[in-house]
Amino acid sequence: MGKPTGFIEFDRKNKKELAVLERIKNFDDFHIPFDLKTQREQASRCMNCGIPFCQSAMKVNNRNVGCPLSNLIPEWNHLIYLGLYEEAYKRLERTAPFPEFTGNVCPALCEACCSCSINGESVGIKANELFLIEEAFKNGWIKPNKNIKRNGKKVAIIGSGPAGLSCAKRLNSEGFSVTVYEKDDRFGGLLMYGIPNMKLEKDVIERRIKLLTEEGIIFVKNTKIGYDIPMSKILKEYDEVVFACGTSMPRGLMCEGSDAKGIIFAVDFLKETTKNLLDNQDFKYNLKGKNVVIVGGGDTANDCCGTAAREGANSVLELEITKEPPLENTLPWPNYPNKKKTDYGVFECNELYGTDIRRYCTTIDKVNKDENGNIKSIITKKVEFKNGRFEDIPNTFLELPCDYLILAMGFLGTKDEDSKKYNLEANRFRYNLNNFSYDDKISICGDMKNGQSLVVIAINDGKMCAEEIIKKYN
Ligand SMILES: Cc1cc2nc3c(=O)[nH]c(=O)nc-3n(C[C@H](O)[C@H](O)[C@H](O)COP(=O)(O)OP(=O)(O)OC[C@H]3O[C@@H](n4cnc5c(N)ncnc54)[C@H](O)[C@@H]3O)c2cc1C
Ligand code: SF4
Ligand code: SF4
Repeated sequence: MGKPTGFIEFDRKNKKELAVLERIKNFDDFHIPFDLKTQREQASRCMNCGIPFCQSAMKVNNRNVGCPLSNLIPEWNHLIYLGLYEEAYKRLERTAPFPEFTGNVCPALCEACCSCSINGESVGIKANELFLIEEAFKNGWIKPNKNIKRNGKKVAIIGSGPAGLSCAKRLNSEGFSVTVYEKDDRFGGLLMYGIPNMKLEKDVIERRIKLLTEEGIIFVKNTKIGYDIPMSKILKEYDEVVFACGTSMPRGLMCEGSDAKGIIFAVDFLKETTKNLLDNQDFKYNLKGKNVVIVGGGDTANDCCGTAAREGANSVLELEITKEPPLENTLPWPNYPNKKKTDYGVFECNELYGTDIRRYCTTIDKVNKDENGNIKSIITKKVEFKNGRFEDIPNTFLELPCDYLILAMGFLGTKDEDSKKYNLEANRFRYNLNNFSYDDKISICGDMKNGQSLVVIAINDGKMCAEEIIKKYN
């Protein structure tokens, strides 16, 4: 199987991207797909390893290694190389409920432990995945199954993020009558109202929701369970209830002046921006000409950078409390690499503002307000991690102009008042169950159970949660 010399003949290629000044003119996807010849050459780089670590779904040092969905990667790589795209898609769909989501936003845990990366560059697995699912939609290989035999059991799924959707899809395919409740005005959870459009275009989510609806899943939006409909009614009406509400409580700022107007949570900023775009409205948070500081150095902060660049911010800085990661990877294969990476949003800002916008070992000491309570500037300070905590480095204060301070410092879990409304014993961080079942009738999955994580892990969690429910009725 595979082209025996593919990995020797062909170097890894990444998809071309539009130039920064071009792509920040809008919020569209800026990647240019490969032509078919290149796609096949890239797939031919797969060595069809005897032990394919790429699909292994392992934990190494307590971190995920390999595709959590155990996607049958070498098989579809080989079939792409042969030009048998429909057969390749059939292998992909066996394990991957939504390759169009993961093919766009997954950090590709599979590629990090691809054997090719031990001594070179990994196979471009994620690009192959996206290619296959888009071919499948384009060529009509995906058809809704409208003849599912119902088993008479009703399930309510609360939350339409990747975990809820994946759970719904699997249960529906087994004959359960599934209703998905969503508190927002659009479905998809953080896929819709977290991850920006340039990383995942929103019609991709709507296309999937349409398909799931045609297969019999009922979607109800603008309905917050526990508030608009009490839990007692849900528990009476359904045989099973699955909570997939994500982690709704962002970590806030605790310093003098943290009540200033102009301090916003990253998820609120990203959600409103996407909503304004889709509704053709002016931006609620208009960063044009503003000095923007983003606190946090993860994916969310990076998405805020890309969004700020597109809105025309005057300046963007990213503050990161931890040390600058090493430039060369310090962890051996098959670990996910530990090295400084520059994702698209930071890259765009670096290009636009002509300097690396990241400041490491830096946090906020104080926020200065004007007479109307609006943020005017921030005082930053340097810190170092000592004795198990961050300690201030003396005499490192610096005042910076700031009109918007965007907080991207992670999430703390479910709000206590929500937990009460759900009749779940409050747990601020996560429910952290050994399996998915909270009690006889209630299950929890996705970020709500695990804490903030990844789309692919939420999808896998939803699927596994569905399997547990299916087992109960067999
Ligand atoms: C800005 C940002 C960027 C990210 N980028 C990436 C990325 O590039 N790649 C990646 O793999 N991961 C990324 N993540 C993480 C990923 O989005 C999450 O891990 C994943 O979405 C979790 O899925 P979930 O279904 O558990 O929860 P969510 O996606 O949070 O969905 C939960 C849903 O439940 C709804 N809900 C909550 N309470 C109720 C209620 N009472 N009634 C009805 N509905 C309710 C919410 O409105 C929401 O729609 C990102 C996260 C953020 C915040
Ligand atoms: S879902 Fe993610 S880890 Fe799995 S094959 Fe796709 S890109 Fe790789
Ligand atoms: S580890 Fe890499 S080379 Fe080996 S089977 Fe997986 S994708 Fe192919």
